[in-house]
Formats: sequence, C-alpha cells, structure tokens
Amino acid sequence: MKTISVLGATGSVGQQALDVARSRGYRVDYITANRDVAAAELAAREFHPSCVAMASTEAASDLRARLADTDITVLAGEEGIREGIYASSSSVVVNSIIGEAGLLPTLTVIDSGKRLALANKESLVIAGSIVMQRARARGVEILPVDSEHSAIFQSLKSGKPSEIKRILLTASGGPFYKKSREELARVTLADTLAHPTWKMGKKITVDSATLMNKGFEVIEAAHLFGVGADRIKVLVHRESILHSAVEYIDNTVIAELSVPDMRMCVQYAVDYPDRCPTSSAQLDLISLGSLTFAEPDTEAFPLLALAARAMSCGGAMPAILNAADEVAVAAFLEERIGFLGISEVVSETFERLLGSRAETVEELIACDREARRIARELIGK
Ligand code: NDP
Repeated sequence: MKTISVLGATGSVGQQALDVARSRGYRVDYITANRDVAAAELAAREFHPSCVAMASTEAASDLRARLADTDITVLAGEEGIREGIYASSSSVVVNSIIGEAGLLPTLTVIDSGKRLALANKESLVIAGSIVMQRARARGVEILPVDSEHSAIFQSLKSGKPSEIKRILLTASGGPFYKKSREELARVTLADTLAHPTWKMGKKITVDSATLMNKGFEVIEAAHLFGVGADRIKVLVHRESILHSAVEYIDNTVIAELSVPDMRMCVQYAVDYPDRCPTSSAQLDLISLGSLTFAEPDTEAFPLLALAARAMSCGGAMPAILNAADEVAVAAFLEERIGFLGISEVVSETFERLLGSRAETVEELIACDREARRIARELIGK
C-alpha cells in the first residue's frame, strides 16, 4: 500500500488527490490546508492521517479543538507545514497548494528525499532553476501533476533528450477563445469562471481565461524538461483531449490522450512507473469524432507572450510575473478590477521591475513582495 501526503488537500487538485487515494487504497499520512477547517476536519476524520497542518494559526487552533477526540497532531503556520513533511511516513508528497505559498514546501519535500508529485506550478515559475538543481542534487524525482506536463513526461518515454525537436503544449483557449480586446472589456467574473472543459480552483480558472496559465506552463515545461521556451509551441485544442505532445527529430509526434480528469494525472505521478486501473472514464474517440488545433491569439491575450519574455529575461522576472498576477487575479475575483485590468496590472508591474535579478530563494521572495506592493499600488489599495 502506498502512503502519500497531500499539501493543499482542501483545494480542487487536493480533493481529487484524496479521491485517488480513496479509489486506489493509498494511506494518507499527512494533509495540509490554509483556513478551510471544516474540509480539513472532514478529510482528517476520513483518512486518519498522523498529522494535519494549517497555514493559518487561528485555523490550526480551531482544528486542534475539533480533533481533540483523536490522536491526530495538528501543526500551525508555514513552519508547521514544513515540519509535517519531514515527520510524515509518506513516500510521495502531492503539492497542490496554490500560488507562491507552495514554493518553500516544494523545496522541503525535495530536502526530505520523498518523491514530489507537483501540481504547484508556481514553484517552477518562481524558482525553476533552484528547484530542479536541488532535486538533481538530492536525487529526488519530480513527477508533474499538471495534465499537460504529465502528458509530456509520458510522451518523453519514446525518445532520448537529444532527439526532441519541440514540445507541443496544448491549451483549451479558455471561455473567451476568439474574443477581441473590445469584447473582453465587457466580460464578467461569472463568464470568466465558466471554463469550457476543466473544473478547477478559481485562481487557475481565471489564469486559463487570460492565458496566463498557459504562459506559466511554458515556463514550467522549460524547467521540468530542460527545453528552451523557444522550442515549446502552444496550440489551442478546444476539446482538452490531447493533453500535449513531443515532436522528435524524425517528425514523429508522440502524444498522450485521455478524458480531462486530473485524477489520472495524480494517480500516474504516485504510481509511476506502474500504470494501474482507474475509476476515471475511458476515452471514446468515436463519440468525439474530431479533434481541432489552432494558433493562440497573443494580441488579445498578451500574458502568454509576456511569460515567454519573462523566461528569456530570466532572473526574478518570472517570479515578478507570478506575484503581480496573484495580486491582479485576487482583485479581479473581488470585482475591484475588470478582466483587461489583470493584464494591465501584470504588464505594468513587469515593466517597472524589468531587469530585476535574484540568485537565491530569499532574493526571489523579496522580488515577489516588491511586485505585490507595486501591483497593489496600481490597483489602488
Ligand atoms: P485551490 O484554490 O482549489 O486550492 C488551493 C489549496 O491550497 C487549498 O487547500 C488551500 O487551503 C491551500 N492554500 C491556500 N493558500 C495557502 C497558503 N498560504 N499556505 C498553504 N496552503 C494554502 O487551487 P487548485 O487546486 O485549483 O490549484 C492548486 C495548484 O495546482 C495550483 O498551483 C494550480 O496552478 C495547479 N493546478 C490546478 C489544476 C486544477 O485542476 N485545479 C490543474 C493543474 C494544475 P484552503 O482551502 O484552506 O484555503
């Protein structure tokens, strides 16, 4: 029986990871969340982990009181989350924390020597070189949970690194595919949260609508697979069935296709190198009939190109892009800025901090904080 930890267990990916544990019979030894005490308690009572950590110290006190009749240890704060990673008996840690908050836990998982099943793409966007270097140095495997990267990882089994011509990274195009900037100026929060193919947390759903998410995924893929961003081609694929592909030097394209279901990606990352039966649906290509592919519109959705620029600038620019986006999306979700305001705040913050360098995690976090300060100032708070 596999033993896993799920960081961000109350979120969209985290809940799906618990669902995989349920159907595959994994033991869940450690779970974390931020503030959602009710969901954390429910998961703790179902899975009986030895430990639960809450990033919010008030939420941790509340949970400790609720779980007083159990022998489950409750840890608090960022330090608590990291302490639990070391203490847990799990061999695989699913990191499905949202945002920059996932970076230090990612590094802790690597330091602990456990396998990292990584959904938190921000770890790689902010500090990809540091994360990958540390994983190599410690001999730790990073198994991608993002569906596109899981697809690329699987497609890479067909050739050698020297035989890769390029990566084909697919994008659903989000709810606003084919909309002009004029039309985008009128879209609402509800329109933005209505993703056509994936049911995800709100932050990533908004990022999918602006194509910022696809930009982050280009950076994530470049770090994970050691392929320059200039050799990663983004294709709009509305059906979200072909989750990404690798084109080799002989022009053969190897792709992974399946129904859009994150549980398959979590399961693959935990069970790798084995493939195991799943409760996810079988792919019915005949009912689908056809699959379509198109160029993304980088004029209407400028954040995709800005991510590629951030990658080529290097230094702290990808971290700055991520921080500005976290602030802008939070403001959009609170309806303090409109849809186009997201790309305006992110682009302006990026330009103001252009050329920022950072070598260490501490310097990257300092740049993240400065970008947040500027983005908040631009929004007017
Ligand atoms: P959600 O917002 O649904 O869940 C986020 C999780 O992180 C929750 O458990 C939340 O706890 C926890 N959390 C929030 N803030 C903090 C913090 N400061 N410290 C510690 N934990 C925190 O996010 P998603 O599941 O949608 O996304 C998670 C990650 O997976 C992201 O990096 C995303 O890009 C990536 N991803 C998501 C996909 C999806 O289908 N949703 C697909 C591919 C990748 P609480 O509930 O208590 O607030």
